[in-house]
Amino acid sequence: MNETPWLSGFSREIPPELLDLSFFSREQEDAFWMKQALHLAEEAAVLGEVPVGAVVTWEGKPVGWGINRRETGKNALCHGEVEAIDAACRRLGGWRLWKAVLYVTLEPCPMCTGAIINARIPRLVFGAKDPKAGSCGSVIDLFALPYNHRPQVCPGVMEEECAGLLRTFFQALRQRRKEEKTEPQR
Ligand SMILES: [Zn+2]
Repeated sequence: MNETPWLSGFSREIPPELLDLSFFSREQEDAFWMKQALHLAEEAAVLGEVPVGAVVTWEGKPVGWGINRRETGKNALCHGEVEAIDAACRRLGGWRLWKAVLYVTLEPCPMCTGAIINARIPRLVFGAKDPKAGSCGSVIDLFALPYNHRPQVCPGVMEEECAGLLRTFFQALRQRRKEEKTEPQR
């Protein structure tokens, strides 16, 4: 049986020639890249950002990745998916990502769903659902509307791990806020 070669963290140095996933099933490949997106999400959490990570692949190779940086970037547009799509367009030298797959740990918001449509990404794989802003089925399914592009969507890949990371982050945040409130004022 082929073991999925998990890496211990997201590697920006994955040598493409060594990354032969051709023996993977579709499910194994999806899990592999989602795990990479999770590593990126962990990096976001370390920065104090809501942990969301995204990877764009092109014919099985990573061509862009990103993390949520709204706080550190002080910018509402700094979502992981936008960063990853931006990087992929730069690397590939074009805006039509017609052979790409976008992996993201959290269901995309309306902005990122729009970016996926605009970039003509044919396949989206996401982990956790987002009942507050998710626009691929939770709040609304923008892909069901008659836009000129409709990607294939694969939800719920490593859903527990993706949701668990967010849960842990928000629990720690609430705890910190509680402690700050109870600290004696000087
Ligand atoms: Zn977004």
